[in-house]
Amino acid sequence: MDDISPNFHETLLDNLYDGVYFVDRERQITFWNKAAERITGFTKAEVLGKRCADNLLRHVDDRGNPLCEGACPLSHTLRDGVLRSASVFLHHKQGHRLPVAIGVSPITDSGQNIIGAVEIFRDDSATIAALEHLKELEDLAYLDGLTRIANRAYLETFVVGKFNELQRLGWSFGVIFLDVDRFKLVNDTFGHQAGDVVLKMVAKTLLKNCRSFDLVGRWGGEEFVCVVSKLKDADQIIDIADRLRVLVESAWVSLADSSLHVTISLGATLARIQDTPETLIHRADELMYQSKAAGRNRLTYK
Ligand code: GH3
Ligand code: MG
Ligand code: MG
Repeated sequence: MDDISPNFHETLLDNLYDGVYFVDRERQITFWNKAAERITGFTKAEVLGKRCADNLLRHVDDRGNPLCEGACPLSHTLRDGVLRSASVFLHHKQGHRLPVAIGVSPITDSGQNIIGAVEIFRDDSATIAALEHLKELEDLAYLDGLTRIANRAYLETFVVGKFNELQRLGWSFGVIFLDVDRFKLVNDTFGHQAGDVVLKMVAKTLLKNCRSFDLVGRWGGEEFVCVVSKLKDADQIIDIADRLRVLVESAWVSLADSSLHVTISLGATLARIQDTPETLIHRADELMYQSKAAGRNRLTYK
């Protein structure tokens, strides 16, 4: 066998399936592997020398709380040398929030002094199966051209199938109706093209943060519907909906000289045996309007 090259370890790290990066004591990124580029959309050149909090990944927890200022696992490990793991949500270069499972380890010098920390992370979304499914949807003209998620026709077909399951097997399900707040203002202020980028960012945040058996699609314009099943209880649909709300709230799109944030208003409801697909979606839509009337960026459940 050939001798192991001096760069062997670096090459190995660079080619891991998981994202890997190293930060020094000042939390400056000094190593960024290929998988980190693939998962986050940020190239090595864009991140080396930067701090992660410099408008890059800006992790949040599942309540939308920013971790950079307080609960950042990297900075805790830099301080106490303890290994940590967590499920967090990073900011993708395209803007959406991506769920990732992370592990953080300290790196020490020969004198056991902490000189930095390494974070390993992996895409934690259920979308690998979902992406294959989207390809099928495209072939059947069930894919929305702009956002690349399911379109309204597919949502309607899917809900009919869910009613069959409810009526014949007693399997409960619910729908969440989501509408971007004051979206006309986004178009009027930043232009229609920026509006399109925002719609794609919102769609991807919803898609990446749904469970593999849930369906999210574009109902039309700036409106989305998420169909959720396998619910343990009514509280679960509230948790899912509110998580989507905070993740959209904590996501942003970078423009030339500013960041563009939007919020969504939601209505969530469980299907009832006497419902039709129309009455169910209509009820979720009405609940969404109650969220608008109550001040937007909130969820109404009934
Ligand atoms: P509210 O908080 O009450 O929902 O206010 P809103 O401004 O979001 O609602 P409104 O219905 O007044 O405006 C929706 C806007 O969405 C108007 C329309 O031009 C815009 N829109 C619909 N489809 C698209 C699209 O595909 N791309 C872009 N950029 N804008 C779109
Ligand atoms: Mg609307
Ligand atoms: Mg709207």
